Amino acid sequence: MYLIPIKYHGLNYPKGIHPKIIEVAGHFDTVPLKDRKISKNIKISLHTEYSAKDRHMKSIRSSVLKTSLRKWWGKQVPDLWANIQWTKDFANFILDLVKEYEEQIEIIEIHPPIPRKYNWNTFIINYQTFYSIVKQKLLNAQILIENRNGFLLSGVCDFQILSSIIDKSKIDLGLIIDFPQLLNYEKAKDCENKLNSVMQQINNFKHNVKAFHLWGQVGRRSHAGDINDYFNNDEILINNFYSNLANIFLNKNQKYYFIPEINSGNENKTKNQCLYNIVQQLKNTGFKFI
Ligand SMILES: [Zn+2]
Repeated sequence: MYLIPIKYHGLNYPKGIHPKIIEVAGHFDTVPLKDRKISKNIKISLHTEYSAKDRHMKSIRSSVLKTSLRKWWGKQVPDLWANIQWTKDFANFILDLVKEYEEQIEIIEIHPPIPRKYNWNTFIINYQTFYSIVKQKLLNAQILIENRNGFLLSGVCDFQILSSIIDKSKIDLGLIIDFPQLLNYEKAKDCENKLNSVMQQINNFKHNVKAFHLWGQVGRRSHAGDINDYFNNDEILINNFYSNLANIFLNKNQKYYFIPEINSGNENKTKNQCLYNIVQQLKNTGFKFI
């Protein structure tokens, strides 16, 4: 029932909420943390490559990494978890990126591969290799995987499958639910019954959920506005969403990371106002921020 706020880009939380963790970009076009003047007094959630855009990889210094990570599935869009060598180089890329900040890394957010040539078994083998390299240096880091539309982890059924694998094989991997992406994928944002059904299925794997992503959508513009914008100001859907969230997560005395991925506001709301609205709605629902 507790939410651990994560500072996202330039967003400011309302008074009284002081995030102790900051989200830091860690995709293939980023430079090492030590070249970015990131504070030494804050914990870090590293958001790794998410395979949505062309990458130029100019800042990857080692020529070895440059070669093996250059596997594309789109024009120049990285093909995540392409093979074991890719996986090893991905792990080493991350260690290189966070050098001198190792102790501050609290979360590493990873993303699933595209499903074309992968199944969960292949992914898990790759993941275990990645884990064993990364955890040698990043002792405090939890590794969490986020859903991506059209990728291996997209819908509630995919979450259910991965959660069962985590339980059976006892791999150390937590789940992040990006709610807007999940509800878009399930076509549940316009339909009360579908919304209820998707949300209720989360109960089956909530024990592996460690974090939420929330943001709004304005027309086709993603990561814009608040939850009211996401549901086109439909009070029934908005209330349904929050009451389901409370039913799933409030009865557990557990902590979840909260990442408001709001990149822009809407008409007469700034992005900070959108964050205030979401925080207020979560508080009204019964969540407490720590
Ligand atoms: Zn997200």
